[in-house]
Amino acid sequence: MTMQADYDVIVVGGGPSGATAAHDLARAGHRVMLLDKAGRIKPCGGAVPPQLLKEFDIPPSLLVARAKSARIIAPSNRKVVMPVGEEGFVGMVDREHFDEWLRERAASAGAVRVTGRCEEVDDSKPIVTLTYRRDRNAEPETVTARSVIGADGARSAVARQCIAGADRVPCVFAYHEIVEVPDMIREDYDPTRCDVYYQGHLSPDFYAWIFPHGKQASIGLGSADKGFALRDATRVLRAEVGLAHWKTVRTEGAPIPLKPLKRWDNGRNVLVAGDAAGVVAPSSGEGIYYAMTAGRNSADAVAAFLASGDARALRMARKRFMKAHGRVFWILGIMQYFWYSSDARRERFVSMCADPDVQRLTWQAYMHKKLPRRDPMAHVRIFFKDLGHLFGLRAAQS
Ligand SMILES: Cc1cc2nc3c(=O)[nH]c(=O)nc-3n(C[C@H](O)[C@H](O)[C@H](O)COP(=O)(O)OP(=O)(O)OC[C@H]3O[C@@H](n4cnc5c(N)ncnc54)[C@H](O)[C@@H]3O)c2cc1C
Repeated sequence: MTMQADYDVIVVGGGPSGATAAHDLARAGHRVMLLDKAGRIKPCGGAVPPQLLKEFDIPPSLLVARAKSARIIAPSNRKVVMPVGEEGFVGMVDREHFDEWLRERAASAGAVRVTGRCEEVDDSKPIVTLTYRRDRNAEPETVTARSVIGADGARSAVARQCIAGADRVPCVFAYHEIVEVPDMIREDYDPTRCDVYYQGHLSPDFYAWIFPHGKQASIGLGSADKGFALRDATRVLRAEVGLAHWKTVRTEGAPIPLKPLKRWDNGRNVLVAGDAAGVVAPSSGEGIYYAMTAGRNSADAVAAFLASGDARALRMARKRFMKAHGRVFWILGIMQYFWYSSDARRERFVSMCADPDVQRLTWQAYMHKKLPRRDPMAHVRIFFKDLGHLFGLRAAQS
């Protein structure tokens, strides 16, 4: 006789990835538990592409702002504005409400929501046993399932315990300050624009940002350099742009993993998704859309595993994800490695972004999450301009 598990699937983590996976699986009729430790708003700039709203049925009412352009700022302080175009926008979500909405949607589809922290995952038998505590002082409780999806973010407890190599993911450390935007804005701030600073003194290997969020704004930066003082650099940024006096509501930070794990499953019954699987885009640090996509890919793979009992079905999650987005991650990884490595290169990178072809293709790729194929001549033009900038043949001010 085989042991009956409490659930078909336990999803650990109720962020965008886990909540999406739990929703999809519950809607398909599986017995799902969604375990989330709660109590902390995820530190995040909250920028999402229109494709996310379309693909995951997100009501536009969840957007707290729509940015219509990005302004990128070079080490010389040269500013290049990149308008998104007539139809486009960058959506801004408030993670406190966005994540809770996703979790509630999963619950409405039938997932059982439990608040608690996952501590141990025993995946050595066909039925997984998971130990969690409802709060710090509570007694540990155990629950069993035929499979587990670890969507518990960067530094995932599930990934560390069940997936080989998960403790060696390279990360950028990001920090931001949520500030209150005054009713009368006199400073150089536009509530419909995302400002992105490519300046070595603000980040030696990534970038700094000012993102609008309706009545609030996120001001922050990231760096993989552990010795780099993120708070000090944020203070410098705020002073330099004249926003030091805006009231700070919260300050927070978190690691952003920047490389998909080589394996997302343990070969038996556990799969990881989202930040836990390392799927944040290099160069931009965009992770919400990719976390939700990986959550959906994981739900499909687990559903196939539950139907067949064949653990090889779990591999499908990573395969599908990398087929759709692996090329973009690769290109963005090279871009980050090359263009973010010195102020001279950052200057040339910003110059390159003044090009209308670069702007059009960048926004198309961002908004639709596909590499545009329709305009081959634009790719050719960019390739030669890129080479020109690469070798410094084009003047930095071109
Ligand atoms: C400062 C900063 C700014 C960012 N800005 C952007 C941006 O503008 N746009 C964008 O697309 N991406 C951004 N990102 C990246 C984005 O936030 C993440 O990629 C995304 O949140 C990943 O979603 P997830 O569901 O995989 O993980 P998370 O959102 O981290 O969710 C994990 C969930 O698991 C829960 N959890 C963790 N451990 C346990 C445990 N042991 N037991 C139970 N539950 C647990 C947590 O409570 C949380 O709810 C930013 C990241 C940072 C740090």
